Amino acid sequence: MIPLCVPKGQESVALRCGATWSSAEGCHVVEALPLIMEPTSPLLGFLPYRFRPDRAPPYVRPWMVPQPLWGWNLRALLAKADWDTVRRWAYRRAGYRCRICGQRGSDYPVEADEGWAYDDARCVQTLKGVVALCPRCHEVRHWGRTMATGREGPALEWMVFINGWSTEDAQNCAQAALQEWSLRSARSWTCDISWVEQTFGLPILPDARERAAARQKNLVGLARQTYYGKP
Ligand SMILES: [Zn+2]
Repeated sequence: MIPLCVPKGQESVALRCGATWSSAEGCHVVEALPLIMEPTSPLLGFLPYRFRPDRAPPYVRPWMVPQPLWGWNLRALLAKADWDTVRRWAYRRAGYRCRICGQRGSDYPVEADEGWAYDDARCVQTLKGVVALCPRCHEVRHWGRTMATGREGPALEWMVFINGWSTEDAQNCAQAALQEWSLRSARSWTCDISWVEQTFGLPILPDARERAAARQKNLVGLARQTYYGKP
């Protein structure tokens, strides 16, 4: 059974695609993928990434923000009400299910994950979108925080399960992400979140840079305490 990410208002479209409502799952589901699926089928848009025939693993992997940009997230750069607008938009368009695996968490069904792209030639981190993820997929993405909280084991297991990998595959992927993070963290980066303004017309706070820089300093201090026991 495959859980679907059906936004409110799209229920009838999902039903026409062969979906049924599952009370047990609390969402629309399909029993299995159709043998043939047209690229234009609306079902494709409802499928979590790991079930989409046009996608291949890895569906979830660590995606680490370089240390100079720690804290440069929408929570810090936007007014609280504006960040709420963006993240709730992401939740609604995923039908409050994880876009990667279709599951949801017990305390918080989904969390908002910022999709950053990295231009290593120009050292620019660019926001490409915000998606709803379940806590388990989200903790794989935020590998640094996951390491700091001692959650590597469950996160590796989740990577194995979602990507259909061996444990060694998952360990190699996490190791490669750390090496990439280390190389990127040695350089100076700028952050481009113009996607928010273009998509929602929402402004960045006037003191956003100062707030983000203060946050970055604070987070680096916390990491030093965690790993080296000194500020
Ligand atoms: Zn998930």
